[in-house]
Amino acid sequence: MSKKYCYLFTEGNAGMRELLGGKGANLAEMTNIGLPVPQGFTITTEACTQYYEDDQKINDGIMAEIMEYIEKMEQITGKKFGDLENPLLVSVRSGARASMPGMMDTILNLGLNETVVEVLARKSGNPRWAYDCYRRFIQMYSDVVMEVGKKYFEQLIDRMKAQKGVTLDVDLTAEDLKTLAGQFKDEYQSKIGQAFPSDPKEQLMGAIKAVFRSWDNPRANVYRRDNDIPYSWGTAVNVQSMAFGNMGEDCGTGVAFTRNPATGEKKLFGEFLTNAQGEDVVAGVRTPMPISQMAEKFPEAFAQFQKVCAILEDHYRDMQDMEFTVENGKLYMLQTRNGKRTPASALKIACDLVDEGQISEEKAVSMIEPRSLDTLLHPQFDGKVLKATPVIGSALAASPGAACGKIVFTAEDAKAWAERGEKVVLVRLETSPEDIEGMKAAQGILTVRGGMTSHAAVVARGMGKCCVSGCAAIKMDEEGKCFELSGKTFREGDWLSLDGSTGKIYDGAIPTVDAVIGGEFGRVMGWCDKYRRLQVRTNADTPYDAAQARTFGAQGIGLCRTEHMFFNEDRIPAIREMICSETVEQREKALAKLEPMQRGDFEGIYEAMEGCPVTIRFLDPPLHEFLPTDEADIALLAKDLGKTVADIKNIIASLHEFNPMMGHRGCRLAVTYPEIAAMQTRAVIKAALNVQARHPDWNMVPEIMIPLVGEVKELRYVKGVVVKTADEIIAAAGSSMKYLVGTMIEIPRAALTADEIAKEADFFSFGTNDLTQMTFGFSRDDAGKFLGAYYDKKIYENDPFAKLDQTGVGRLVDMACKLGRSTNSTLHLGICGEHGGDPASVEFCHRTGLDYVSCSPFRVPIARLAAAQAAIKCNNEAAAQK
Ligand code: PEP
Ligand code: MG
Repeated sequence: MSKKYCYLFTEGNAGMRELLGGKGANLAEMTNIGLPVPQGFTITTEACTQYYEDDQKINDGIMAEIMEYIEKMEQITGKKFGDLENPLLVSVRSGARASMPGMMDTILNLGLNETVVEVLARKSGNPRWAYDCYRRFIQMYSDVVMEVGKKYFEQLIDRMKAQKGVTLDVDLTAEDLKTLAGQFKDEYQSKIGQAFPSDPKEQLMGAIKAVFRSWDNPRANVYRRDNDIPYSWGTAVNVQSMAFGNMGEDCGTGVAFTRNPATGEKKLFGEFLTNAQGEDVVAGVRTPMPISQMAEKFPEAFAQFQKVCAILEDHYRDMQDMEFTVENGKLYMLQTRNGKRTPASALKIACDLVDEGQISEEKAVSMIEPRSLDTLLHPQFDGKVLKATPVIGSALAASPGAACGKIVFTAEDAKAWAERGEKVVLVRLETSPEDIEGMKAAQGILTVRGGMTSHAAVVARGMGKCCVSGCAAIKMDEEGKCFELSGKTFREGDWLSLDGSTGKIYDGAIPTVDAVIGGEFGRVMGWCDKYRRLQVRTNADTPYDAAQARTFGAQGIGLCRTEHMFFNEDRIPAIREMICSETVEQREKALAKLEPMQRGDFEGIYEAMEGCPVTIRFLDPPLHEFLPTDEADIALLAKDLGKTVADIKNIIASLHEFNPMMGHRGCRLAVTYPEIAAMQTRAVIKAALNVQARHPDWNMVPEIMIPLVGEVKELRYVKGVVVKTADEIIAAAGSSMKYLVGTMIEIPRAALTADEIAKEADFFSFGTNDLTQMTFGFSRDDAGKFLGAYYDKKIYENDPFAKLDQTGVGRLVDMACKLGRSTNSTLHLGICGEHGGDPASVEFCHRTGLDYVSCSPFRVPIARLAAAQAAIKCNNEAAAQK
């Protein structure tokens, strides 16, 4: 049977969302349950995908089916397109599978032309209404279908109002509106070079194509990327017979929520406008009245509406967002959907619905958007000031939250200014590990270069600090301490505001509001823990971050990047001495200075984690990162080490690499300098023994993780150093403490040979930042520069460094899990790349059978929720298959 592309509202139901889109499925469902819905039909999402497959054309088959459904609609409504007795007017609205409010287009009053408008005017005895519809239609059609800017029509309206000495649209007379309609058509003709189409069927086909086209408009593309909505879904189109809210004072239109979307309070919330059409409420041309006043104006329709609200909430068991129209006192429902809500109200509504016996805990968990929790945990801008402040630039939303402060250009300045009580925003070309203290001191970080797994992004996320990265539009002069953006020069001390949740940059100071976590948060998190299988660990390198993550519910540390501990002022001289050593003895002497410091750090982290597992990764970055770049610092180092400046410069030059990310780093360091691995092992094991002694009830099992392994012999070699060192210390202490040695899987070769590697590993932790970098061959720091072109060309829909590429990188992960477990049945599996905190990637980890995900502290609640949702979804799928 050939595909069916059109469905009458009487033919669909709520379960047909994929085909009919959310709006179409719900219009059908409302029709089924007997609510007053103006009838019509839905053109499926498959027709939209076919339109794109056919080079943006509606093919003959689909065209014929649409014509057939127009006839069916004419029969149902008893009205006809272009008829001189009883003309049919329709609205044409988009409706994707997932709601994308305001992203796509709508056209109202379609079917009007010179003759039809006269019929309507005469038959209704209300010419003002007829011409109001007509001018609105021309305006919307021109804007949406033919892309003639709205502003030209608005200018004509303003001119007319000025001529007539009125301020409101409703004060224009029928004659005025008739004249305006004529002016609009002239405007159309002058811009398009053709007369405005008068055939309703031609109008309809234009409108349908425009809705299909709007699926690909830039704002829809951005919205989809931000909300994980695949491009391939397409949008449906709903053709619905018009109900008129603009026929007079006994008419009106409104938008309402069954509960307050801002607070979650169980009370009807919404707005209503008399004598108006839908877009007037949204456009803000007139101030609507609160929905409660509708009770006085339209008591009957209001009473009916209240009943409908109760029916819909009961039916969908969720807060509904509805559009409706009252035509001559009679109520018509135009739309219902699960309403968008603030994160705080999402939690309250979910809990209330459970308490009201409407939904189960599993359903409550499934209905909360994991990423929305970000907003609950970070400061946000004051919404009113934000709206009034122009955006001067935008880049990657690398770490959520809001920041406002005075611009500084160096980490030292950030620290110094913060110490004297100033709020600062650190603006850098890119950050490096040396900048950590400045980043800590800043309210937020803005970088010119770098992607979602760049140093700035990863570190800021770890700190829970706002970061906008990769703003290539900035012309930076770090030396001169100024930059140019949006035609303005910003200097040190100027105020700047950043929104790390949207990636937007604002000129000036926008006040921020602190995060408040309500009681429902804990309750919902408790449910998440009950239903998830995946454990959730955190990536943390300091006792402070570890403790933070613990309060968010982390069940251990999945990644402690030890190099981050080497950059503190008191440690950097020792690590530099180690790097500049010429003999093993010299190196061991320098390492001996570092060992107690590392041990102290590890003890602090173990204490903060209260006996939960802690995975410590051995030194990973290329050594040159630790050496100074500044002349003065080089001179100082030379003096400290008793060397000449030329000696130090020679060492720096010898460490130079063309591609350091693929150079002398990871386990390659331990292969060349095994004494580094030995020192780190001593610190890990001794710290664990000390903490175990202090807390006999904890079962300390330290986990040592070797990075960047690509060959089992590499792991075997480094593991040999670790085991020898660890066993000696444990034996000397008379202890029987266990420890684990595992590896990161972050090189494709490691994934491909995982069966061999697993023989030497107690655990695998997928380092999907590097694994993505090396699988795609995209630099994690530079990809931001060209990914935009990939989105535009639809080659990739998402940043693979933010959302795991399940097709390619995911296949390697899956393969490595299977291969690994085939030779080591007790192999423990986790992920510690940035994807560990991304909800879609967490679902992938659940399905792939990983044991845990690990993410930055502030993402722990998101991962707990995403893990629970994944488990519930899989259980539901399994139950449905039985
Ligand atoms: C990774 O590569 O995914 C990882 C976690 O390590 P890093 O980001 O430190 O390279
Ligand atoms: Mg890595």
